[in-house]
Amino acid sequence: MMKAIEIIGAGLAGLALANALQRDGVPVNLYEAGTLPRHRVCGEFICGRGADALKALGLGHSLAGAATHRSTVWTIGGRETLRKELPQPAIGLSRWTLDQRLADTFIQAGGQLYLNTRRTTAADGIATVHCNGRKACSSDWIGLKLHCRDLSTAADLELHLGQDGYVGLSKIEDDQVNVCALFKQRPALKAKRIEWLDLYLRHSGLGSVAERLQAADIVEHSHCGVAGVQFAQIPATNESRLLLGDAYSVIPPFTGNGMSIALEAAELAYPFLLAYAEGSCSWPESVRQINCAQHAAFDSRLRAARWLHPWIHSTSRQRLLGRLAGAGLLPFSLLYSLTH
Ligand SMILES: Cc1cc2nc3c(=O)[nH]c(=O)nc-3n(C[C@H](O)[C@H](O)[C@H](O)COP(=O)(O)OP(=O)(O)OC[C@H]3O[C@@H](n4cnc5c(N)ncnc54)[C@H](O)[C@@H]3O)c2cc1C
Repeated sequence: MMKAIEIIGAGLAGLALANALQRDGVPVNLYEAGTLPRHRVCGEFICGRGADALKALGLGHSLAGAATHRSTVWTIGGRETLRKELPQPAIGLSRWTLDQRLADTFIQAGGQLYLNTRRTTAADGIATVHCNGRKACSSDWIGLKLHCRDLSTAADLELHLGQDGYVGLSKIEDDQVNVCALFKQRPALKAKRIEWLDLYLRHSGLGSVAERLQAADIVEHSHCGVAGVQFAQIPATNESRLLLGDAYSVIPPFTGNGMSIALEAAELAYPFLLAYAEGSCSWPESVRQINCAQHAAFDSRLRAARWLHPWIHSTSRQRLLGRLAGAGLLPFSLLYSLTH
């Protein structure tokens, strides 16, 4: 008889892990505070090992119909600064589609998914995996996103750096484009929620992107926003809880690696959790081993991304970045490998 495991949070980490364990006969209860499917603030650009991790967990089918990204173009202050092939192809798929497919697979395999159920404390005696995303905190950042239907792009991924923030345009399934931005909050800007992206773009020197969005067909109800995002706080090595994905640490989003980390975390936790469920490893020992594996896999990536993050949003560093790129001295592949 397998021991049961409870997973808090049906984002990518929770859904991927729940599927893998359920398929091996582990009784899994998956609790989700919100509903599915739903739009989430996310660049929906999966790069690095994320797709391989999904395939290794037997969930490769959930990427069907995704866009493939090979090229990127960056602008700084409205001027094209960099045009490159990505060091490895990336995948564009909306969270609306990906999360729902993973949830469907889990439910069809007999998994128990409790939507609209916020789990605040772990149940006594039940092994609990925290996949509940980033911690609520106060921070200077605001993330905004929407989907467009008829927006042509100059590359598979456009990244536009503006004053105190940036916006990415990346292709997703069904010829749609995901538009996702991160800005330093400007409390003085007052508008209806649906107008925030337009307003932030215009106040950040990215008015040309705002104009393109004005002319595009915006997917109804795809606007969403999130505040209180804090990056790359790495848990202590003696953490006794099992935290995966953003609950472990939030990598700055310009890397496009947060989803990958969530999926990789599910992949690396899975064999240890299976051993626990089969009774061959205690819970504290499984948690200790998974946490060691996470520190080894992610911490240097998180530190590098935290160091690079100000180069993307601070105006003075952006200028230097632009000059380096213009002179062909930006070590794009090296920076990519440090953060993926
Ligand atoms: C602006 C921005 C842009 C980004 N762009 C990209 C990108 O292009 N590429 C990329 O790879 N990553 C990107 N990311 C990061 C990516 O979205 C996250 O790293 C990824 O979603 C983490 O997955 P997760 O499963 O850990 O958490 P989530 O996907 O956040 O899922 C956590 C789930 O837990 C649920 N939950 C929370 N508390 C509870 C509770 N108490 N009980 C039950 N359920 C609970 C939440 O409702 C949520 O559904 C971006 C992030 C931001 C903010």
